[in-house]
Amino acid sequence: MDHIPLPQAPNSDHLEVPLYEYDPYPYIYSGPWVSYPERCGWDYSEFYGMHAETFPNSVRGLLAAFVQSWLFFGVLDEFLGVPCPVPDWTAVSKDGRPIITTAHLFAKLEEWHHGIASRDEAEQIEVRNRIDHLLDRMRYFHHMLMTSLTDFNTYSNLLPEPLNLSLDVLHATLVIARNAVFAQATLSFPHYHHADVIKHTLLQNGWCPSDIFRVYQDATVLGRYYVSRLGPLNNITSHPQCTEDACRSCQIDRQAYQTKHVSAGCDCDMICVSTDAVAEILREGSIPTIRLNNGMNAIELEQVGSCSPTNFTAISHVWSDGLGNLHSNGLPTCQLKRIQKQVNDLQPFRQPDSSALTNRNFWIDTICVPTGSDFEAERSLAIAKMVKVYRLAKDVLILSSELHEIDSCRGPWELSARINRTAWFRRLWTLHEGILSKRSIFQLRDGAVELSSLAVEVETDPDSDSNIYQAFLRAIFRETCMPFTKMEAFKSMTSHDRIQAIWSAVQWRTTSYLDDETICLANMLDLDLSTILAISRHDPEACEKRMKAFILLQRYFPRDSVFESSHRLDLSSVPNLTAQGFRWAPKSFVFRSTSIDPATTPTPLVEADSAGLHLSLPSFNPACSWAEVMEHIAISKSEGIADAASIKFMLPLDWDYYYDISWLPEDTKWEINDTLLGSTIPAVALRDDIISVTKEGQDRVPRRPSQRMFELDSQREGISNSYDLDRFDGASSEALLLAVSARHAMTQERINGAEPEYRASIVARVHVRKRMFSTYRRPASDQVKILSTDADTGRPIPIFGVWPAQTRWCIG
Ligand SMILES: [Zn+2]
Ligand SMILES: [Zn+2]
Repeated sequence: MDHIPLPQAPNSDHLEVPLYEYDPYPYIYSGPWVSYPERCGWDYSEFYGMHAETFPNSVRGLLAAFVQSWLFFGVLDEFLGVPCPVPDWTAVSKDGRPIITTAHLFAKLEEWHHGIASRDEAEQIEVRNRIDHLLDRMRYFHHMLMTSLTDFNTYSNLLPEPLNLSLDVLHATLVIARNAVFAQATLSFPHYHHADVIKHTLLQNGWCPSDIFRVYQDATVLGRYYVSRLGPLNNITSHPQCTEDACRSCQIDRQAYQTKHVSAGCDCDMICVSTDAVAEILREGSIPTIRLNNGMNAIELEQVGSCSPTNFTAISHVWSDGLGNLHSNGLPTCQLKRIQKQVNDLQPFRQPDSSALTNRNFWIDTICVPTGSDFEAERSLAIAKMVKVYRLAKDVLILSSELHEIDSCRGPWELSARINRTAWFRRLWTLHEGILSKRSIFQLRDGAVELSSLAVEVETDPDSDSNIYQAFLRAIFRETCMPFTKMEAFKSMTSHDRIQAIWSAVQWRTTSYLDDETICLANMLDLDLSTILAISRHDPEACEKRMKAFILLQRYFPRDSVFESSHRLDLSSVPNLTAQGFRWAPKSFVFRSTSIDPATTPTPLVEADSAGLHLSLPSFNPACSWAEVMEHIAISKSEGIADAASIKFMLPLDWDYYYDISWLPEDTKWEINDTLLGSTIPAVALRDDIISVTKEGQDRVPRRPSQRMFELDSQREGISNSYDLDRFDGASSEALLLAVSARHAMTQERINGAEPEYRASIVARVHVRKRMFSTYRRPASDQVKILSTDADTGRPIPIFGVWPAQTRWCIG
């Protein structure tokens, strides 16, 4: 692992990977690679799905030694094309044990690169094919060893964690080397995440489980390993209630909030401005900015009009760092002096009429947004002006306590990793400030840096001894810089694209006050805040009312918004809005969508108004009453697991397939009352059109070339794996059980084109799976008969219809 650069202190040392030795029978690697297991007496087809619990411990040491020899030393040897004797790759740990060292891996890779460069094109292609096959097989066999037969979602503990990690890292490093050398035909492999040891380190370092999950999505094992070496986070927030889906810490407790000094022992005076004076500037339609006077002991206020040239910096900070103040528009002298100096250092400033250097103006919410109940109206004015503040500001300086001790001379990849793990990237409010800013600059101990210029520096490093090492560092930079990259990508989007992407943009963020959320969303989407701010934040129903105002303001939403809240694993904490016409919408947009990145697979925008969301969806029509549908519900009980409910049905003339609507009664209450029972009919609307998915259609789906490349090999080796061709991957979709107001279009109230529209409300969020009768043993027609007398319900399988594809729904 020591080919990966370590961050500077505070940091953690490299994880040590022992040399797994087994005295009675040392595994010394010798080629050819393919026959090595057999020559050592192992039949690798037995590795697949080994039951980790019953696999005897006595064999595990032996297995680790064999796997290290085969998949570490063997792969190195095969990849580099030269023998890699064990002594060249081992060192001695502090406590005298032999451990693996990869310190000279990049030097070896460069030699390998030069060797390849001297060959002709045909030979190069031959080398490339050979190492591609090797990398694929390495990944495949390691995966095989890691898969537990009992639970496919967990990995077996058959191999020691350091070994798993060293194989993951070696594989990822060799893929980078391969792609750096054969850049015209790059190969990508799925993210490799076998080693749990990184996750444990991050938890020990004070990471929130939701942040770890985010890093796991953004980075390969290299980025993950790198951030795990950064050492503990220096904030004291703990995350006991957090899950992979949501962070529940870092919320501001208004009662306990304390403004902090630069150092803990300081008790310097607070410098305040007159809230009245700030409010006056806002009432005049201007923006207040501040600077310290030359004596550095009082604040001078200055207003920025929209027409005058501006030269001020906006400060963005996380309130939990202590730069907020709930009682007055002031901050301790020590803090203001420090901020003033940091702002001055960004850009030396002379007054036009004098040659003397003078303090530059800045804007910080703590001082420039009026506090106190007497200034509620002016507070709203200040918030409505935020977009303007960030647009007019020359730059936005981001202050984070986690960066106070970090020097700007560190490597760009380290700065990227440290900056992107700060709480600033986790808060909705600061994300929105970042998105509004023209130029965001991060303050470090001795200066400020821009991530975008670091990115340029990393991408254009001209003189380096090793191209492969540079490619490796670039990969770490890109992986750790994803939160910033995504923010910048959002900034460059059009308003139309922003609403498509907002679901993924606000993921991983937290906010202390839900009523702030609509302000941030509206600002990020360039909407006018007045209808939202017209609702007092002290109104007991402020959040829900402001969300309704936001929906009416924005009007257009991705079609799949109606399904989004069903994605949430913590359904209870942020349910949907409850008002008629708005029940399709979540109370909060700040949650983790588990769907495929909505930004990359956008759904069309559809219109929302006070009646509901207007859209078309592929839908089933049970063509019967609620009472009849309910008679088909089958409940399956199993020991220790919650009851599962389902309704099976078929479509007319579609005799090879049947459908299964399923839900967990414990989590999914049918919200259906007597009125709905009597006056509505059921329908099932699908997120994905699984009706048109057939086995024949699936087989025609072209396979990716990299998959096809290895199909023959796996057949030759007698491995039956996921390339199995004769299979129907039962299509499935999220779905809404709808109560439709009437069978016949009663939509005289809203005609869109010539299509009638049906009013519907959501009864439950369910899952629909399309299944195929396996005709291997008996024909489908016989099975329909068996299914027809399903013991669970005692009723024949119902036949549902399909609503015409152009049917319009108004879901409210
Ligand atoms: Zn958390
Ligand atoms: Zn102080």
